[in-house]
Amino acid sequence: MISQFVPKRVIFEQQALEYPLGKELYERFQAMKIPIQFTGSHNRVTGIPGKTHQESFGEAKRTLVVGIRKSKEFLGCKPSAHYQLPLTTSCPSMCEYCYLATTLGKKPYLRVYVNIDEILCQADRYIQERAPEITAFEGAATSDPIPTEYLTGLLFKTIEFFGNQPLGRFRFVTKHDKVDSLLTAVHNGHTRFRFSVNAATIIEKYEHGTPTMAERVIAAGKVARGGYPLGFIIAPIFYYDNWEQDYHRLLIALDEQLPQEARKDLTFELISHRFTKRAKSNILDLFPETTLPLDEDERKYKYGQFGYGKYIYQEQAMNDMKNYMEPAIGKFFPQAKVEYFV
Ligand code: SF4
Repeated sequence: MISQFVPKRVIFEQQALEYPLGKELYERFQAMKIPIQFTGSHNRVTGIPGKTHQESFGEAKRTLVVGIRKSKEFLGCKPSAHYQLPLTTSCPSMCEYCYLATTLGKKPYLRVYVNIDEILCQADRYIQERAPEITAFEGAATSDPIPTEYLTGLLFKTIEFFGNQPLGRFRFVTKHDKVDSLLTAVHNGHTRFRFSVNAATIIEKYEHGTPTMAERVIAAGKVARGGYPLGFIIAPIFYYDNWEQDYHRLLIALDEQLPQEARKDLTFELISHRFTKRAKSNILDLFPETTLPLDEDERKYKYGQFGYGKYIYQEQAMNDMKNYMEPAIGKFFPQAKVEYFV
């Protein structure tokens, strides 16, 4: 079991103290005797220690920045949602294939935004603009939002906000299991709570500092009993000797934990392992001893939308994975929807 995330240092934007949550966090971190510093902007954080890139990356992942989200505009989040909902960035875990290592670049430290009322007000404006259509927001586009939730309550507040929005929907995804505080939120079925899961062997090898497969599946069972629409991202799926057995065990574990009522509105997203040149170089920089399969010669090159091509598995492997995973999910969860396999 991994323990609760406790930052090693906290850096405040001065302005964050003008908001009730900022003040509350400041007092809480003082009581916890966590060193507190100040910065002019959450985008310009300096002084995180570390002699090597690996060390400073590790230190950044223990650093929490408490700031204000100033930009009014939200970024798009196609195809899964209309907008990203900016609540938090980064995550304290150290998954070797974390997509944030590429997207957050030089800012892997954690950020939480305390002007939550303003952020939700902006979400409300977007919802009104698109009425009578439904507008969907993604809360985990740049973070895993669960590790800091026990400190901020940002997700709880957001879930209840969307619970009151007939035309607004919220979704997020986590690899973490500290979900108890969210079980009592009044969600009205407007938040889809998704878990990113994998075969137990893959989690043990590559997802450092995250809950085990069994712990995540137990958390998913709790969330299902809390009445939330539930979803699973199985990613990245690896192709190796006897891979089917390991993924089969994952489905058995899910089958044991999910109550019947949760199975009617259940989604699966399936993503095979892939990497870009940039991601590979980041991974080798941070995890030089990695055993991830990153040999370009064994892969097929797929041209990407923005010029970033990806190395995906060869066609045969892709077909094998798709032809195994989709029917296996259908057997355990006949009412579930497999949204895509890529
Ligand atoms: S849990 Fe998610 S966000 Fe955190 S390091 Fe792992 S992949 Fe990245």
